[in-house]
Amino acid sequence: MDLITRENPARVAEIVGSVPVTDPAAVDAAVRRADDAFRGWSGLPVAERVAALRRGADTVAGRLEELAPLLARESGKPLADSRGEIGFAVAFLRWVCDEAPAVLAATEVDDDAGRLVVRRKPYGVVGCVTPWNAPVILAMLKLGPALAAGNTAVLKPSPLAPLTITEVAAALPAVQVIHGGAETGRALAGHPLVRKVAFTGGDAAGREIAATAGAMITPAVLELGGNDPAVFLPDFALSDADYERLVMASFATAGQVCMAAKRLYVPRARTAEFTEAYLAAAERVLVVGDPLDPGVTMGPVISAAAAARIRALVADAAGGTAGGTATPLGRSAPGHDPASGYFVTPHLVTGLDDHAPLVAQEQFGPAVPLLAYDTEEEVLVRADAGELGLAASVWSADEERAFALAGRLGAGFVFVNTHNRTGMSLRAPFGGVKRSGYGREYGREGLLEYVQSAAVHVPAAFRPGGPGMAPGAYPGGVHDEPPRSAGTGRPPP
Ligand code: NAD
Repeated sequence: MDLITRENPARVAEIVGSVPVTDPAAVDAAVRRADDAFRGWSGLPVAERVAALRRGADTVAGRLEELAPLLARESGKPLADSRGEIGFAVAFLRWVCDEAPAVLAATEVDDDAGRLVVRRKPYGVVGCVTPWNAPVILAMLKLGPALAAGNTAVLKPSPLAPLTITEVAAALPAVQVIHGGAETGRALAGHPLVRKVAFTGGDAAGREIAATAGAMITPAVLELGGNDPAVFLPDFALSDADYERLVMASFATAGQVCMAAKRLYVPRARTAEFTEAYLAAAERVLVVGDPLDPGVTMGPVISAAAAARIRALVADAAGGTAGGTATPLGRSAPGHDPASGYFVTPHLVTGLDDHAPLVAQEQFGPAVPLLAYDTEEEVLVRADAGELGLAASVWSADEERAFALAGRLGAGFVFVNTHNRTGMSLRAPFGGVKRSGYGREYGREGLLEYVQSAAVHVPAAFRPGGPGMAPGAYPGGVHDEPPRSAGTGRPPP
């Protein structure tokens, strides 16, 4: 049996664990088991499903101190960050349990137009394919709502962080976990018994998943990349704590977050002041080292290939034709040996134009460009350039002004006076516009992704004693309204 063996990206000689690769026949068997389980699971009252999910949430919460180091060791996320992610996933699952009964309830109207019942029905088997950068919460955003709604699920996590989520998923009912890379993901997304696909990941895989699912007429939710602008309005007033939060909005998880602040747009007249305060804040909060060291806030990136790609992007921005200046940020933890793993020095890059690859592409690593702008209309156009539209932020001393600009930005989620995870809300729908994907996670919308409306209707005309209707007639149309006299628009006397 083939194995996926995962090394610790901070200490590459250390093997954290391994999982067996699921071969195509076993993918088929897993989906069939999930399909077999669907009738029983979906037939339970929502209260029973939610009770089972709450027990799962309690089990995961009870294992937090054991699971957090495992997540840190397989993903390179600092321990506090790993603990935070698992805790947030538990909080999200509990929120789903609180909200699901009301959001998923059938609605009924019985009036002089007839009787209409609309039920929220689960799809069947949901195939979930997830990335490595937040392997627990990104899986939970799919599993929680899907399972609460009565679907069963097959989850394929990333081969780069398969271990913690396998443990977490084992605490939940009606889930099977399969392992492998693109091949396994393809087999799942294209399986005829998968009725909905939920994907988070990059552009290339997203396009292929969408095509695979589309060929089967299987609906999909796609949460893809972002190149989030953070726009500082001319009146911005940031405290030291605000600058520190901003630094971590770009560098948490070594910049490998879909909604990280990836481009900083600062009014030209205030760039010197901004840069000085930003560098000082980074010196205070950005500490690079081993994720298990409690003083560390930034670990390695996920792989040698990712490290090489990001270093090349920074070298091109600073040394190549782009003409920028890269300033290293933060400091190393005492005794830290960057050669022990996939460590990349974090950088702030200035002096680039918007066409430089570090600005125009999603960098997905610890380097952020600072860009000067002159007018609000100009920054709006520049922030919205490009094909991605996941999240953005607007920073201003005037909340009304920030909300006004936020409403005009082409992003699925705009944070005000913060960015990245500190700005998230369990109740706020999250997802992209343009090529950042479609569908939503979190909030009521995130629950409704996993149900289809199914209507049952009897028109009043055909209820006992009803007047009936001419054969082939449409109900309700303009012909049912009283005739209007020509020219006046008023009914005839
Ligand atoms: P990836 O696209 O390489 O892989 C994601 C998952 O898809 C993995 O499980 C992988 O094995 C699988 N996969 C890859 N190719 C596939 C294919 N052709 N068919 C089926 N499955 C396939 O992404 P990644 O490198 O793991 O994650 C980084 C990307 O994810 C970034 O672009 C990031 O912005 C994005 N992301 C988006 C969100 C969001 O909510 N919008 C959140 C986190 C990450």
